[in-house]
Order: sequence, then structure tokens, then C-alpha cells
Amino acid sequence: MANERPTVPPGPAPVVGILTGSPNDVEVVGKAREVLQALGIECELRVLSAHRTPERVRKYVEEAPARGIRVLIDDRDTQTPGWKFNEWELRGVPLRMEIGPKDLEKSQVVLARRDTRQKSSAPMEDIGAHVEQRLDEIQRALYDRALKFREDHTSSTDSYDEFKAIMEGRPGFVISPWCGSAACEAAIKTETQATIRNIPFTSVPVDGKACLKCGSPATAHAWFAKAY
Ligand SMILES: [Zn+2]
Repeated sequence: MANERPTVPPGPAPVVGILTGSPNDVEVVGKAREVLQALGIECELRVLSAHRTPERVRKYVEEAPARGIRVLIDDRDTQTPGWKFNEWELRGVPLRMEIGPKDLEKSQVVLARRDTRQKSSAPMEDIGAHVEQRLDEIQRALYDRALKFREDHTSSTDSYDEFKAIMEGRPGFVISPWCGSAACEAAIKTETQATIRNIPFTSVPVDGKACLKCGSPATAHAWFAKAY
């Protein structure tokens, strides 16, 4: 269990196991047990030390799934907590929960957001609601950022000269009227390397506009882009 990446073994619906490395800590982590019990969540409290009683920890990890507990222990002692935080960030975990001794004293959890690196604390009592709220905020922020990036990298033109000039650089999407013919699309690709990526159902109507390439009546606004 030393240096391999931890994985979550499959198992039935989880209850919660509270592990502490020293009997001295039972008084502190006992508060976590009280909170869980108050919420009606089944839990157990064990004193196990990865350093002093590694065999008992190993046995616990092996037997826990059969009792409904999914175990993920990052017990590598070759890395500092900061290193482990960094690794979980690299793996894209959106929200990291940190519970240190001081947090236990205050019955709180520190929530670290992957997207903004912001940390905030939330009370243990309704941690589920706080986690859901943070995850919603993260989802919204990622979506807004992606949408803004796309909008910032999308332009439109009805002129083929301008189209060609835009395509000289790294233009993202260019929206232009197109007649619907494969021959025009092929000619545009040959001359500019750009191909049609999308014709959204919600496009602005092309009433009266001419095809970018051939000048025939356009049938749609097409989204062109170059492959890099
Ligand atoms: Zn055409």
C-alpha cells in the first residue's frame, strides 16, 4: 500500500468509518461521530495507525468493503500533504475536503475549489448541501468560461476576402453564409484549409444573403474553422 496510487474498491452502499491514529484523538474525532449519528448516518470509530499498526490498517482496508465501507487511503509517507493535494488537483478532483485537528474542534470542513483555488470552510452539520452548492458554482463557472472563450474566438463575415484574411491567423470559428453545395465547401477548404464544423439550428436566417464562395443564394450560416 506504500507508494501505489489509491483506488476506490467497489462495494455495497457505504457507511462511514472514522479512523484515528492515536487513542488521544478519540475525544476530538468523537465529535465527528456525534454529528454523523445526529444525521442518522451509520458509522464506526477505530484507532488504527498506518505507522504503528500497519497490519491492522491493511486488514481494515481489506475487510471494510464487505461491511459497506468504501476505503480510499492515501497513506504514502514519501509525500507531504501538500504534494498529495497537488496530485489530486492534477487529477482534476473538483472539490477537495480537508479536515484537520483544528477543523474537528470547530466541527467544520475546509472546501478547496479546483477551478479558482479558493478555500472556504463549511459547518459539518450540513456539509452535503455546501458541497452541492460549491459543485454547482464550479459547473457554472466552467461553463461560463468555456462560453466566453468560444465567443471571444468567433467572428462572422459575408465577404470571402475578409474570410480569407481572418483564416490567415488562428481565427477560431468564422460564421459565414453558404449555399449548401459540397463543391463550394471543398473549394473553400482547398483555398483556406477551413472546413464547416457546425450549422446550429438556432442560426440567424440567411434571408437574401449570397454564398461566401459562389454568390448563389445562401441556405445557412455555417461555422467554419481550421484544424491545427
Ligand atoms: Zn456556394
